[in-house]
Amino acid sequence: MCIMCVEIFRERMTVTEARTALRELVATTENEEELEHYQELSKATDEELLELAKDSQPSS
Ligand SMILES: [Zn+2]
Repeated sequence: MCIMCVEIFRERMTVTEARTALRELVATTENEEELEHYQELSKATDEELLELAKDSQPSS
């Protein structure tokens, strides 16, 4: 779970806003695992993006 997924999931951020933020994160993140995750998110369609955000929430 990352900050982006939480924001998207809680609808505090629109998909459009998330995409803008993701471009910045991909450009600035140095952690490879995070980078991969952000790239996965930025490649996803709007629907996939929401699914990924949902999937990454704790299931409790
Ligand atoms: Zn995430």
